[in-house]
Amino acid sequence: MSGRATLDSLARLGFEVAGVREINGALYAVIVVSPETESAMPTRALTSAVPATPAADTFHVYQSFDKSGSGIRATLAAWAATDPAIQVDSIGASIEGRPILAVKVGLAGDDPARPNVLFMATHHAREWVSTAIAMKLIRWLADSAPAALLGARDVWVIPVENPDGYQYTFTTDRFWRKNRRLNGDGTHGVDPNRNYPAFWGVDDLGSSPTPGTDIYRGTSPASEPETQAVMAFHAAHPPVVAVSYHAFSGLVLFPYGYRAGELPPDLPLYQALTGTDLAPAVHDGVPGSTLTYYHPGPGWELYATNGEYTDWAYRVHGTIAFTTELTSGCCVNGLYYGFDFPDDSVLVDQVFRDNLPFALTVIAAAGDLRRAVGASGLAPAPPRFESLWPDAWLGLDAATPRPLSLTLRSGTGGAGVRSAQTDSLRRGTTRTVWRTDLQADTVRALRADGTGIAAELLSFAGAEPLDAGWTGWTRDSAGLTGGFAWSTTRSDTLVSPVVDLRSRTAVWLHLWTHHRGATFTPEQRGVIQFSGDWGVTWSDAAVIAGNGPTWYPQRVELPQAAGRRGARVRFISQHDFQWSIDAVGFATDSPAAFLLLAAPGVAEVSENPVRGDQVVISWPAGTGTTRVAIYGFTGERLHQATVAAPTNEYVWDLTLGGGTRRVVNGAYIVVVEVDGRRYRRRLFVTRPGGPP
Ligand SMILES: [Zn+2]
Repeated sequence: MSGRATLDSLARLGFEVAGVREINGALYAVIVVSPETESAMPTRALTSAVPATPAADTFHVYQSFDKSGSGIRATLAAWAATDPAIQVDSIGASIEGRPILAVKVGLAGDDPARPNVLFMATHHAREWVSTAIAMKLIRWLADSAPAALLGARDVWVIPVENPDGYQYTFTTDRFWRKNRRLNGDGTHGVDPNRNYPAFWGVDDLGSSPTPGTDIYRGTSPASEPETQAVMAFHAAHPPVVAVSYHAFSGLVLFPYGYRAGELPPDLPLYQALTGTDLAPAVHDGVPGSTLTYYHPGPGWELYATNGEYTDWAYRVHGTIAFTTELTSGCCVNGLYYGFDFPDDSVLVDQVFRDNLPFALTVIAAAGDLRRAVGASGLAPAPPRFESLWPDAWLGLDAATPRPLSLTLRSGTGGAGVRSAQTDSLRRGTTRTVWRTDLQADTVRALRADGTGIAAELLSFAGAEPLDAGWTGWTRDSAGLTGGFAWSTTRSDTLVSPVVDLRSRTAVWLHLWTHHRGATFTPEQRGVIQFSGDWGVTWSDAAVIAGNGPTWYPQRVELPQAAGRRGARVRFISQHDFQWSIDAVGFATDSPAAFLLLAAPGVAEVSENPVRGDQVVISWPAGTGTTRVAIYGFTGERLHQATVAAPTNEYVWDLTLGGGTRRVVNGAYIVVVEVDGRRYRRRLFVTRPGGPP
């Protein structure tokens, strides 16, 4: 399709046109199809190039549930009859009476000493490639998995969670999604992945109360026998790790999905297993796919879902649960395959091989989740702060004594104490996140009493009028804390001022982010880069992608920033990614946090030479009032200020006297006097472009 008229007509139909792509000279609209919009689509021709109803159950790779000889049920029975490593059990029955089959691969029986790992497919009937992958996984594990690995785990595979709907897609409607419940209004189907009893129906965005829609959640939590079967399985064999395969998008999602901004207390563990956009766990080898990897992130980066499997498994059983949205693939007329992944054994095998390493990773990790975090190199072992300000999110082992309060030191040196509260919505099996309501213009340091954990926000705050030295983007009054945020609506780059991180170790980048995007348009994204040499050279530190409709904290590990004098970051919006950031700065967990900026007996400056619009002068704390003076090299006093104890920092904005005019580039002398001691420091100002 092409042309402005077509785009307008798509918009009138309620589609969000996420972009336009030119392929072989023709323009194609890229539309974002959520289940809500899809259920309202007047025709399915827009998502697929094939008819809605297949002719017969005669596919090459894809097999229906019931087909004699080669169907899923018959195939599993045949495998179990000939291979002692494959045991098939029914964990319940569907509405139409089909068995919900769970396959145990490896040693017979369920030994409590062996951690359970679960793989599941086809909650959604039309997502055939997910069942094909699950069947290949059963076969591969039985034939090729290392005996030492299988012998130490109880690995289960449920290849068809929704057998009635799956069968219906072969006989009647290729794009049927739900189960085959006859609803009271004459429509059919409950969405099995909106029926779980966690956050069930908390809003009508992540599921629907309307029976005819594709995301109908059912009349009550766990109303469906398919849901009850999975719940009974978890009660009998609680999985340590689980992967639920869906199609399509090329994502590895983890809790939570029910509300934007919610992150799991086990975030470091989830991230250690999924990797990041820069070092992803799953590569996409399908030719022409829109991305070369599966983007990892919380479920709401795709769209909100409630009553969904991974939220439920994590919240109720502490299962480290993932939703893998298999590849979007390409190409039907230059667009992705979508739900209609080709009946092509080479392509399906590629999807399987792309996903096998992650499957093996989670099987191995189920033996020792803590080691999985430590070995990844992506995240330090907990406890750690996910955010310092304006909320402090502190992850702790369940076994770690909980702190009673958090102490903070503000940018002007004052100390304050805020009580912390357990947030009951963040409840994993191993960690608890603490949340406070710290209110301060700038927060420099936090300590959790009673645990010895310390962290410090070392630099910038975020877009407030006093924050100097930033370039690019605009100040947006819709800030995280009611103040300002840095914001852009187009391809543009925000560059931070330089920060001196000498003597700082265990450095990470602290920020809160808010963005509009879609995982269906992966070229729209934000890239965070770091420079340790004042901005001469840059390297990628993180990627922000998908939909972030509310503020949430992002912790970016920056081991390469430790000890660097010329540290700065920049934020690059690509393809008009709409992006805002706030509460941004370098932070550290190092034991040196809370040390004064100045070493004993020395006055210290935050940056020398000064390239930004301000410099922080600090000195060994005294008991009396401190006098700070700035002299020119010919001896004239240009600026002075007094600072009350116990504050031992002064922010000089390079102005003369108390006016607004800034000093010219050149050499200056800083003199600090406190308690009869005098500190002197030479300072060079080399601001690009000189004074305004
Ligand atoms: Zn699905």
